[in-house]
Amino acid sequence: MKEHSFDVAIIGGGPAGSTCGSLLMKYNPGLRVVILEREQFPRDHVGESQLPPIGTVLHEMGCWDKIERAGFPIKVGATYRWGQTTDLWNFEFVPFGDLKAEARPARFEGQRTKTAFQVDRAQYDKILLDHAKEMGCRVREETTVRQVQREGDRVTGLLLGDGTTITARHYVDCSGHTGVLRRAMGVEVDQASSLQNIAIWDYWQNAEWAVNIGVGGTRVQVMSLGYGWIWFIPMGPTRTSIGLVVPASYYKQSGKRPADLYLEAIQSDPVIAPLISNATSEGKLATTKDWSFVSDRLVGENWFLAGESAGFADPILAAGMTLAHSAGRDVAYTILALDRRDFEPEWLRERYDDTHRRRIQQHIRFADFWYTANGCFTDLKDFTAKIAEDAGLKMDPDRAWQWLGTGGFVDEEAATPGIGGYNLTAVKEISGAFLDVPPAWEINDKNLFDLNLEGAERIWIASLANGRITRHRCYRRGDKLLPNNGYYHMLISILKGGNTFEHMQRTIEANARSANASSEQLQALLSGLLESLEAMVQDGWVKVGRDPAKPGMPRVFINDHSIVQQNREATPGSAAVGSS
Ligand SMILES: Cc1cc2nc3c(=O)[nH]c(=O)nc-3n(C[C@H](O)[C@H](O)[C@H](O)COP(=O)(O)OP(=O)(O)OC[C@H]3O[C@@H](n4cnc5c(N)ncnc54)[C@H](O)[C@@H]3O)c2cc1C
Repeated sequence: MKEHSFDVAIIGGGPAGSTCGSLLMKYNPGLRVVILEREQFPRDHVGESQLPPIGTVLHEMGCWDKIERAGFPIKVGATYRWGQTTDLWNFEFVPFGDLKAEARPARFEGQRTKTAFQVDRAQYDKILLDHAKEMGCRVREETTVRQVQREGDRVTGLLLGDGTTITARHYVDCSGHTGVLRRAMGVEVDQASSLQNIAIWDYWQNAEWAVNIGVGGTRVQVMSLGYGWIWFIPMGPTRTSIGLVVPASYYKQSGKRPADLYLEAIQSDPVIAPLISNATSEGKLATTKDWSFVSDRLVGENWFLAGESAGFADPILAAGMTLAHSAGRDVAYTILALDRRDFEPEWLRERYDDTHRRRIQQHIRFADFWYTANGCFTDLKDFTAKIAEDAGLKMDPDRAWQWLGTGGFVDEEAATPGIGGYNLTAVKEISGAFLDVPPAWEINDKNLFDLNLEGAERIWIASLANGRITRHRCYRRGDKLLPNNGYYHMLISILKGGNTFEHMQRTIEANARSANASSEQLQALLSGLLESLEAMVQDGWVKVGRDPAKPGMPRVFINDHSIVQQNREATPGSAAVGSS
């Protein structure tokens, strides 16, 4: 006998659905959670290149080891032809030379917490869905949600393809681009960007990897053309995803069939063509468009939107799955807190809605920045100028940096500041590749740091850990937030006690000594604090100054990343561990 009544019904068994289900079961194994998935897994899905924050979520779900055992390539970074020059440049999550050639399968520790995976979604999504099942979710594949039944803003049931109805206390829409529940509840979407692109992609067998780094590590290839760009993502020893992104208007004007446009692009690209000279396509050419949007709201009386149903920016950031995993996690925590009546239900719902919508909007802003600042788009000058104009940018690339920060670099939930799954160091480094003058570290050479909380109101924000939401005070001024926890809390207390660099240095060292911190821990603490201090300066929470009589802050080197022009890559550290 199939059950029809559940605590939580999740529509869609992609990364958002599996994350939400697994975490609900992990923290409250007594729940009855059903995941309704239209397809039979494994099934192909576009979106294969991850960012490092996903590792922490997989680890919390208890399935990082399963993903590692599947042997997906380790994403160490990316090689770009993008920005001010047609030269290739590399961006790496772990700096050149620091990556050790470790045997696999490895554990989620050390350097592997800083790298990401490139995943074959057919396998990856199946591992996650099977994991959710193992955690106790009822998983029903080949089960389509046909209709969402509602009374006002309340979902009352889900009508399935077989004519039966499922009811639940909470409903979560993780149905991806389909947005089954979002559409049924009449939620409008804001296509906040002018990015109206189409993607054409296929999977290839036996393409060369552009680079081999350490054991199983590589970089994805992102190659601008005058009229669009190509992604090249090895997803396993022999299978590679290769896609072409062009403006929809360009595609229409070209009068070409998608397959012709696609093959012409990849077969004539000087980087990609040699990699596929002995490869064969799987003949699964697919296209999609209209992916850039944010939903007007993500919550209702008894329902939530998570993952791509809530919104998405653009493939250029490789951040879709990061958003999907983090939204699935966030909704699970919100449901757990609602059930425990930990806080006022309205606050819990609004918090998720605000936080996640802001995240998506920041991603869209970052993607706009990428496109606008790409001098390699020789045929797309009008296109990128239009993005800039629609976004109110009216700018040269340098002013784009100022605009990029208008939504703030401080993310109240992320441990370190940044945008779109890239931390501030990475955002600055990548932006440096686009801008005439790379964004400076505002704290470099300064020695006076004045906390500026003037005009800020105090609100509550949340931290999510160990299945519980806790509340913290946070300052808010306009669109900018300053949480009073973590590194920010340390900095606020330090700066309340004195505004000089010496005072800051003394206090941090004293704290590290009393906590018996190792030199590695001290270095990690310093990196986190300095990056957070920089974000506070960028977001206007700290005013910097220089007392000429005193030494300035030494030039910051918070480098978890590195960018290197390939033609200057004479003896990169990655070569020491096997770069080809
Ligand atoms: C061109 C392109 C390139 C991208 N590249 C990247 C990338 O490199 N890196 C990255 O991180 N992200 C990328 N993304 C984004 C990424 O693909 C998505 O953000 C991610 O898959 C979202 O996960 P999800 O769980 O929300 O939805 P999905 O993974 O789409 O899962 C939704 C599931 O819901 C099921 N479903 C749908 N309707 C129903 C129904 N009625 N009943 C039951 N089940 C249903 C579907 O079968 C599907 O399995 C890309 C997106 C695009 C468009």
